[in-house]
Amino acid sequence: MPYAYDDQNIFAKILRGDIPSTPVYESAHTIAFPDISPQKKHHLLVIPKGPYRCYDHFVQAASDAEQLDFFRAVGAVAKQLGVSEVHGGNGYRLITNSGPDSLQEVPHFHVHLLGGEPCGPLTAG
Ligand code: 5GP
Repeated sequence: MPYAYDDQNIFAKILRGDIPSTPVYESAHTIAFPDISPQKKHHLLVIPKGPYRCYDHFVQAASDAEQLDFFRAVGAVAKQLGVSEVHGGNGYRLITNSGPDSLQEVPHFHVHLLGGEPCGPLTAG
């Protein structure tokens, strides 16, 4: 079954400029901005500009250029934040939720980048 994309989701509205955001990073196919409800000292959301609902959808349907740009962007944001070990930081965690079991709230593919302090156990239960 092909993925459907609802362009009324909150990140689609941010991408269209209907809702304000403060991007900390932008490239050809990707933006990153702070989560409205940060769970750690650093909590950014990295999202593709294209209309993809979740990770599966992104890797199935996005072009090679979009995928390369996205994964490079995640690394660039970690470097920019100073959380990469290779850039003097103490590490970070990436999370992506996909579908109901994960409790994905916003149906536009995104990666949470958390860091700046210990992230704790991997899952809550
Ligand atoms: P999910 O559960 O889908 O993986 O995570 C969605 C994230 O989007 C949540 O961490 C939530 O705090 C964040 N979020 C929801 N609405 C907004 C918004 O309007 N602006 C920003 N910057 N983040 C949002």
